[in-house]
Amino acid sequence: MTVLEQLESRQETLWINPKLRPVQPRDPINGYGFVYMKAAQNRFMRFLPYIASAFPETREKKGIIESPLIEIAAVKDWMNSQGADNESQGVNTDSQGAGIRGRVFLKDDARLPIAGSIKARGGIHEVLKIAESLAQSARMLKPTDNYGIIDSDRFRDFYSGYTIQVGSTGNLGISIGRSAARLGFRAIVHMSSDARQWKKDLLRSEGVIIKEYDGDYSQAVAQGRRESEADERSFFVDDENSEDLFFGYSTAAMRVSVQLRKLGIPVDQDHPLFLYLPCGVGGAPGGITFGFKQMFGRHVHCFFAEPVEAPCMLLGMVSGRHEKICVQDIGLSGRTVADGLAVGRPSGFVCRMMEEVMSGAFTVTDEKMLLYQKKVEELAGLKLEPSACAGFAGLYGLGKAALKKGCKDSIVESSWKEYIDKYELEKYMDQATHIVWGTGGGLMPE
Ligand SMILES: *Cc1c(COP(=O)(O)O)cnc(C)c1O
Repeated sequence: MTVLEQLESRQETLWINPKLRPVQPRDPINGYGFVYMKAAQNRFMRFLPYIASAFPETREKKGIIESPLIEIAAVKDWMNSQGADNESQGVNTDSQGAGIRGRVFLKDDARLPIAGSIKARGGIHEVLKIAESLAQSARMLKPTDNYGIIDSDRFRDFYSGYTIQVGSTGNLGISIGRSAARLGFRAIVHMSSDARQWKKDLLRSEGVIIKEYDGDYSQAVAQGRRESEADERSFFVDDENSEDLFFGYSTAAMRVSVQLRKLGIPVDQDHPLFLYLPCGVGGAPGGITFGFKQMFGRHVHCFFAEPVEAPCMLLGMVSGRHEKICVQDIGLSGRTVADGLAVGRPSGFVCRMMEEVMSGAFTVTDEKMLLYQKKVEELAGLKLEPSACAGFAGLYGLGKAALKKGCKDSIVESSWKEYIDKYELEKYMDQATHIVWGTGGGLMPE
């Protein structure tokens, strides 16, 4: 079976990127260099006094929007001993567990303040950029000012004359809606009907206007874009094309590199770093991949995780058709319990950016995501939403492939093995670091 056939038949699969290029740190990627990430990071720094003032939950860290990097040895041990497949509704009961080596961490973005998800970095960055450029054009703000002045009625009155709109499956709406409304903007979030009710309720309670659509996410985005274009005082945050989201997400790499250094963990030839990144439209995992490539070049290996019903990025890359193809074109529904990943069509911008730098992408069933969600809460005490658990399937798959099981190898296992062999990583796996990106769930109600 080809990868495409596996996608069509909703089987878990792994695609290895044949175009992966061994980039060096700070190499421009598709024409975009380190300065793009640095500019986003600098913008977050200028806004620290504002963020600390407007969002009390960030005060302790002086306005820095950051989440912990947590070692989850218990989850690694569970995967190695029992095998994730054993417990998942009776499939693959011949499972012998996995052979995961090296240290395993969870990047706990559910604990990012304001948004409770990975969307905090991208979404808030774009809103701050809009706010900054409006205030600068109106001569209310200079780059050298203390941005704490923005948390005032004078600025809120000024911003109330403008609207920020976004199409979202939920979490981007929370990130954009909350940060825009707090600044004083009129905020409108266009949501697909499969967005979770609690996300809509939360936003409405903070004065954000919600518009719902029966169709899927792409339609919510298209409608939002149309309504925004008709209003010259409205800005549309375009998840399918936005560079400001992308480079906002990328700043995570600068922060995590500091966290790794504090832990005494190197990333180099002898110490490869594997990232498992849940993927919807591609912006968050793409931005993070861009950032980590800027920091660590070829020593970081970035894999995207998608639901079997909505593997839009994998489909766009394996077919080479990028945003010109959607999962419905191959008979998939796009419907999944992982609402944060329920996206049918990838971002064309992200596909082009990732062409030579993403290592690969894999798919995961809803049952597995729910199983991992349960296990992470049980074994590590961390609450995540289902979307946030997709990456665990990659950690498990890579570990499983490391076990020599002769002819029992599945296509997924042999693809993982092929990757390890191709880049001659086998001898470094004991010193490897794995980061499973836990992308959201921090605001989830009981
Ligand atoms: C949005 C989201 C993602 C993926 O981000 P994209 O930019 O859509 O690829 C992953 N996990 C969660 C929880 C999300 O909300």
